Amino acid sequence: MTIRVHVHGAKGKMGSAASAAIEAAEDLSLCGQSGRTDDFKRALERSRPEVVVEFTVPDAAESNLRTILNYGAHAVSGTTGVSSSVASELGALADSCGLGCLLAPNFCLGVILMQRFSKTAARWFDDVEIVEMHHEHKLDAPSGTSLHTARLIAQAAGRPLNRGRPREHQPLAGARGARCGDISIHSLRLPGLIAHQEVLFGATGQRLSIRHDCVDRLAFMPGILLAIRRIADFRGLVDSLDHLLDDPQL
Ligand code: NAP
Repeated sequence: MTIRVHVHGAKGKMGSAASAAIEAAEDLSLCGQSGRTDDFKRALERSRPEVVVEFTVPDAAESNLRTILNYGAHAVSGTTGVSSSVASELGALADSCGLGCLLAPNFCLGVILMQRFSKTAARWFDDVEIVEMHHEHKLDAPSGTSLHTARLIAQAAGRPLNRGRPREHQPLAGARGARCGDISIHSLRLPGLIAHQEVLFGATGQRLSIRHDCVDRLAFMPGILLAIRRIADFRGLVDSLDHLLDDPQL
């Protein structure tokens, strides 16, 4: 039994890499591809997918996802920048259609695990800072992943972090990074970097460092394939790949 998968945004960097990964997987069948200039609804009617993978642009994602759900397929989208209110509306639509709708800001399994391990460490360490490092073309700082990690750590800690420091004097503004709640995030932008993040926990006499390095777009493919295989087990909105990791068969 193979799962029929359609890729929308198939000519883009992520769409084309996802298409190749789907074609290479024995249990998946790439039944259709489409892009900006295609009639998406008609393309779906022709390809008859069970799951549609969507990697396009923030402005088009909502309409694309509505088309997928109204057609009757599960949705796996990695397009970033979909607002939480739009995500909730799409979740309600998916729920009413009896379908799963995954909106995953990050398909890299290593990033999801870095966040999980950081949540565990947050229970035992009172001091933590984040360093995120990206290529020089990245437009936003700090990265969405570092902000999300900081929020997850704060939530898991459930208490103030980074207390007990002396009042700091900063002759150069920004020397201690940007603050997300109690947690400092330091952003580096350099040629030669791709996408890296280190979460550093400190305590008297010890330091715990949780680091992830993404050096190739292929790093996203196992997460995308996992999502395609598991999305039919869910109904409504799934807002992170994290929810799909606890398959007892894994
Ligand atoms: P990209 O190479 O620019 O590809 C985007 C594709 O979307 C292009 O083929 C583009 O077609 C197409 N497109 C534009 N408007 C469209 C529309 N209205 N309907 C259908 N297709 C449309 O970008 P990318 O690197 O693949 O990234 C795509 C998205 O994935 C971005 O939001 C990016 O931030 C996100 N992303 C997510 C993850 C993750 O893990 N979740 C990882 C990497 C990237 P044209 O070329 O014809 O304009």
